[in-house]
Amino acid sequence: MDDKLKVHVLHTGYVEVDKALPFRNKSLNPFAYTGLLRNKSNKIRLPVSVYLIEHPKGNVLVDTGWSKAVRGNYKKHLPVKGYLASKPILGPGESITEQLDKLGIKKLQFIVLTHMHVDHIDALSEVQDYAEFILVSRDELKSANNGGGRYIKELWQNTIFDRFDWNGEMGPYFKSYDVFRDGKINLIYLPGHTAGSTGVLIKNNGKFVFITGGAAYAKESWEKLELPSIVNDRDRTLRCLKYIRKLSRADNCIEILASHDPEVKPHVIEF
Ligand SMILES: [Zn+2]
Repeated sequence: MDDKLKVHVLHTGYVEVDKALPFRNKSLNPFAYTGLLRNKSNKIRLPVSVYLIEHPKGNVLVDTGWSKAVRGNYKKHLPVKGYLASKPILGPGESITEQLDKLGIKKLQFIVLTHMHVDHIDALSEVQDYAEFILVSRDELKSANNGGGRYIKELWQNTIFDRFDWNGEMGPYFKSYDVFRDGKINLIYLPGHTAGSTGVLIKNNGKFVFITGGAAYAKESWEKLELPSIVNDRDRTLRCLKYIRKLSRADNCIEILASHDPEVKPHVIEF
């Protein structure tokens, strides 16, 4: 019997950000990450990754990336706080629905949101009809609905979420959620970047792949324990980075996937 899992790492466009955003130590100016009064040479482009997991019981999409609406006029589509620190860029064929259509995938069992920041949730309204359930942690939904920060409530006004409560004890805070109740796809509570951020631990045949969600920008984040410019809680972010560093050093770790790592190219992992 073929019990393999397939993880597609997909890029749904880019964010153009100030280089102080992913790693706070690279600028002495505490507001550099906003890009205000900063030279254009400080701009970098980072990919916006989303992940499609093919599990024998159904497909799981982790995050949604930019919607097609940013292609025409992102300033019309988003309020200022949606693009001030991170400008959306989406090329032809790069939205998640266009990529799912190309892969011939018409149905998702679950959409999982690692957190509800604009670059992770923007295409939700376009892709939600593909999915049976839309999973977001109760903590994240509560904090996103309270508004503030980089949450844009208009993006989910027509969405019915399936908020979940933790049913397992994995991760740095002993809070996890086993999606198919078979131990293979586990959502891990990783607070710090946002109040209810979630990572995804995918286990099969004695090996694993880990998706960091907002907890880490790139490999440097956990290898050097580098905090980004925007954190909801410093201590919790650091604790999560230490957990990810520990996972990265395990013999059975295939890959750790950070959402905005320029070193991570689109590829497929089968294990
Ligand atoms: Zn985020």
